[in-house]
Amino acid sequence: MDVPVTDSVTRFVFERAALRGALVGLDAAYRDSIGCHAYPPRLARLLGETMGAMCLLANSLKFQGSLILQLHGAGPVRLLVVECDASLRLRATAQWSGDIDDDASLIEMAGDPRRSRMVLTLDPKDGSPLHQGIVSLEGASVASLFEHYLATSEQIASRLWLDAGDERVRGLLLQRMPGATEADTATWVRAVSAVDAAAAPFALSDAHALLAALFRDDDVRAFRPRTPRSGCSCSRERVAGALKMLGSEEVESILAEQGAVGVNCEFCNRRYELSAAEARALFAPPRAAVTH
Ligand SMILES: [Zn+2]
Repeated sequence: MDVPVTDSVTRFVFERAALRGALVGLDAAYRDSIGCHAYPPRLARLLGETMGAMCLLANSLKFQGSLILQLHGAGPVRLLVVECDASLRLRATAQWSGDIDDDASLIEMAGDPRRSRMVLTLDPKDGSPLHQGIVSLEGASVASLFEHYLATSEQIASRLWLDAGDERVRGLLLQRMPGATEADTATWVRAVSAVDAAAAPFALSDAHALLAALFRDDDVRAFRPRTPRSGCSCSRERVAGALKMLGSEEVESILAEQGAVGVNCEFCNRRYELSAAEARALFAPPRAAVTH
């Protein structure tokens, strides 16, 4: 049975060792998410790597709501946000200034690790509190950041490989399950070296064939793939909420300048327009306001 890697996440386990993993492919999900902004190619790939990692992380956790990664950079990349919800719906955005070299490292893009900050948030989206964790920016790559995060926060020894191009993202996660034995260690070492040694680990387009080629000495059982996709949760109501946060004074100054308020979603670039009357109605006395 063909299981294309294209826009899929496939979990797998080693039949004879306490090892598990997942393979991710982002194609349309990647292109659609980054296509609405003119990102420098290296920044688009950084977003792609982060999307791949977030998709693997979201797929490995039991949760409801959204996982959100925010990088507040001190370098050319001022802000990078990737969100993946429990159904593997992804959205991403970044703000940057100046040029970004095609071979820039993560640190060159994010700036001084002591002044930049990366936060991973689990938003249950049901009104209960957010869970936030700081991800140390000491790692040299997105993969090593997530490996470090999984080792420290989830207590799971993990290896992650990410490969983002202009058109697609591929990623592979390997994890040691709790209670691993010495025999499991041997399998772990063999599996990690196999991926490290592979010249092009993501060359094959079929998930089962790709896993069989990488782990030829082990029996690997793959589960039914899930489908990540690009999608935005923005809405007119959310834009109205954001304008309320901005405050009446700020909105009035926009109206004085432009006669109406136009807001572009920073993720999908969809445009929302409010007339002066609609914008002012947001700040009308409570009895006149529509509440729900
Ligand atoms: Zn949007």
